[in-house]
Amino acid sequence: MQMKDPHSRPAADCLADLNARPEGLTATEAAERLAMHGPNRLPETQARGPLLRFLAQFNNVLIYVLLAAAVVTGTLQHWIDTGVIMAVVLANAVIGFVQEGKAESAMLAIRQMLAPRAAVLREGRRVTVNGATLVPGDIVLLEAGDKVPADLRLIEARGLAAQEAILTGESVPVDKATAPVAADAPIGDRRSMLWSGTLVTQGTARGVVTATGPATEIGRIGGLLAGVEQLTTPLVAQMDHFARWLSFLILLVVALLLGWGVFVGHMPFSDLFMTVVAIAVSAIPEGLPAVMTITLAIGVQAMARRNAIVRRLPAIESIGSVSVICTDKTGTLTRNEMVVARVETSAGRFDITGEGYAPRGDISPPGDLSALALAAGLCNDAALHDRNGVWTVEGDPMEGALLAFAGKVGAPLGASRLDAIPFDSRHRFMAVLTDGPAGRLIHVKGAPERVLGMCGDLDYALWHDRAEAMARQGLRVLALAERPTTGDKIDPAALEGGLTFTGLVGLIDPPRPEAIAAVAECRAAGIRVKMITGDHAGTAAAIAAQIGLQNPDRVLTGADLDKLDDAQLALEVASVDVFARTSPEDKLRLVTALQASGLSVAMTGDGVNDAPALKRADAGIAMGLKGSEAAKEAADLVLADDNFASIAAAVREGRTVYDNLKKVISWTLPTNAGESMVIIVALIAGMSLPMTAVQILWVNLITGITLGLALAFEPTEKGTMAHPPRRRDAPILSGELVWHVVLVATLFLAAVFGMFTYALDRGYSLPLAQTIAMNTLVVLEIFHLFFIRNIHGTSLTWAAARGTKVVWTVVIAITAAQFAITYVPVLQTVLGTESVALLDGILIVGIGAAFFAIIEIEKQIRLGLQRR
Ligand code: ATP
Repeated sequence: MQMKDPHSRPAADCLADLNARPEGLTATEAAERLAMHGPNRLPETQARGPLLRFLAQFNNVLIYVLLAAAVVTGTLQHWIDTGVIMAVVLANAVIGFVQEGKAESAMLAIRQMLAPRAAVLREGRRVTVNGATLVPGDIVLLEAGDKVPADLRLIEARGLAAQEAILTGESVPVDKATAPVAADAPIGDRRSMLWSGTLVTQGTARGVVTATGPATEIGRIGGLLAGVEQLTTPLVAQMDHFARWLSFLILLVVALLLGWGVFVGHMPFSDLFMTVVAIAVSAIPEGLPAVMTITLAIGVQAMARRNAIVRRLPAIESIGSVSVICTDKTGTLTRNEMVVARVETSAGRFDITGEGYAPRGDISPPGDLSALALAAGLCNDAALHDRNGVWTVEGDPMEGALLAFAGKVGAPLGASRLDAIPFDSRHRFMAVLTDGPAGRLIHVKGAPERVLGMCGDLDYALWHDRAEAMARQGLRVLALAERPTTGDKIDPAALEGGLTFTGLVGLIDPPRPEAIAAVAECRAAGIRVKMITGDHAGTAAAIAAQIGLQNPDRVLTGADLDKLDDAQLALEVASVDVFARTSPEDKLRLVTALQASGLSVAMTGDGVNDAPALKRADAGIAMGLKGSEAAKEAADLVLADDNFASIAAAVREGRTVYDNLKKVISWTLPTNAGESMVIIVALIAGMSLPMTAVQILWVNLITGITLGLALAFEPTEKGTMAHPPRRRDAPILSGELVWHVVLVATLFLAAVFGMFTYALDRGYSLPLAQTIAMNTLVVLEIFHLFFIRNIHGTSLTWAAARGTKVVWTVVIAITAAQFAITYVPVLQTVLGTESVALLDGILIVGIGAAFFAIIEIEKQIRLGLQRR
């Protein structure tokens, strides 16, 4: 159903055209329309097809070298060599293709977890549905921070403005209203409409869906079709660059070697050629970028399992390096399951009992709280649902608690709303104008200091102290007030000083036990946790103490912050952990001040105005449940459960991913160096090669795709959260890594040549000696893998050595493959091997164990020195 010019016609006509009603469609109607119009989703961008993706695998320096080598060996009619080379090329491409596919689908699955939701009316009830199920005729409810889920004709708009840059390119928000506009008005001037994909920046709205999916304006111009995100982070990009640079260097070296061998050493070209190809293949870290990409994808999945959804991949690195986490209080450190526990009115103080959102409980001592309860229930946008005795809240949990309280008092809530000023964290109150049995009344609820200030004729100091006392006990405090009126609009100016105070409401919102544990974990990991809340200073300090923040007693409020200049702020911000009554602008200033002190900051946010602070933070984290779409779009990570514990888990996973990337690199580079050095040294020394070119190709193929990849799956090491965060600018190619490369390459050389010489000395044939040398190399690589798995502690405990399923699978696979090429006659012919005697086999494993012992002792000495 495509409506013609809904913007130029009255809202009522549009409803009629769409066969819609103000109270919304029925579930059956919605289902029928969905079947007719299809899902409210834009067609996916055509991702690269499988064939193209497969061909792209061949676009790689190493593959060029190998293909050239295949041509040359083919011309020389060395068919076995050609066959092996082609097998290597094909295996590389297939594995790259499969890995990349897995990584891409992992990312896609994660992105679908962020599917937008929309609040709609169905049969008069407010329900939240998946945005894709919206249909023309649905009545959608929106508030500041929401992303518009479909094209809407406004039926109701209060203080509404929307940012429509994705459609019009204009980043200044446009005011919206329900009045029809000229039929030929351009999109940007059709103020009676909200467009799919734009953001509500302020106010509230109610609108009827006029178009969904591809029929929307954004669908028609083919917007939102941002390409597939590159699977990369700064670190991976840096390594990619390094690997490419290294490849060219290696090609240069092997070209020189070839020239030297032919012209100076007078070696036969055909043998030498295969040898230098083998050197190139073993030295080039071809698998590195692909394995790192897989490591990232696995990290993204691990984080998603821990309820942290990565929106921007580089965040996976930055979250692992944060040194400060600035977090909201409500819902993140606390459960956001509120209950009204205490109220105070001029008639006295009352305790309220009852659990959850059920409107059942007692008031003691008994008293008349009807005025307070009426205000609590009417100045309210939430709804309570009773599902088989389990009461749940739709909307703000605090308002849900107020509704439950109103229910306990038995307040009649059947009044119609004429006007409202929605809650905004900047003015900290909400007002409604209702017409009911008690007459035409404005009800106001909000932060006590704000609302008490609007009341005339009141002992401000007394009530201010009472509110403070409630807050100090960790209660979240609201003040309520009212005034009769005759008008049908709320005049904000008339509120100031004109209200009559009705009472204070204190709500409990207990800390999350898992957040307490997570705060302790962060502390052990050298990460400072700071609470930045819009709540009252007293409440904030009480909760901070319960949660275990380092310094809960000093609280800076937004007003205090305004008095500090940037230099003073930078000083204070280091030691203060609780910031109360803050505004989104304060959050931005705090991030900036913390970053100026060289700290790496994670910041949470949920409101539409938090976007700048989230963008500025090293890791911006939005709340998945209560967060606005605006905050989610600005964030790097989204918490599916709004829980602080998930932030700590994300840090842990972020550190794990970084460690694993480092492990992949620390395994690959020395292995490549060791493999290629063995051949280069033999070539230059004019000795027989300890391995044939085909054998080197084989080792490279089999270990590169198994052992190297196994490290991508490494779980979090025990010591991961026991050391301070790494420096953000710490280079991954550190002096330590270079030393490790040199040490391991040297030990590889010594061990392989040692075994090779030993075999020749015992009078073994050259092929047998080569078989022994090759198996030694593979065993060394396996031991090296077990060593690399534990960079934070010893590898010599059972738990550390036990390994993962992936590690054992690849070790078993490689062992089986090595046995096959060593003992199976056909393979012996292809690879030029001979059967190795049992004792020699044991000796090979013994050499591996000795190598492991040496590097482990070296690590222990190094860690010991570092600790001192
Ligand atoms: P956090 O920043 O940790 O999430 P918060 O939810 O308390 O804390 P805000 O949402 O900015 O922060 O609320 C600030 C204050 O405004 C609250 O302490 C409360 O006094 C008042 N307030 C919050 N929500 C409403 C509402 N729906 N109606 C009226 N007043 C509200």
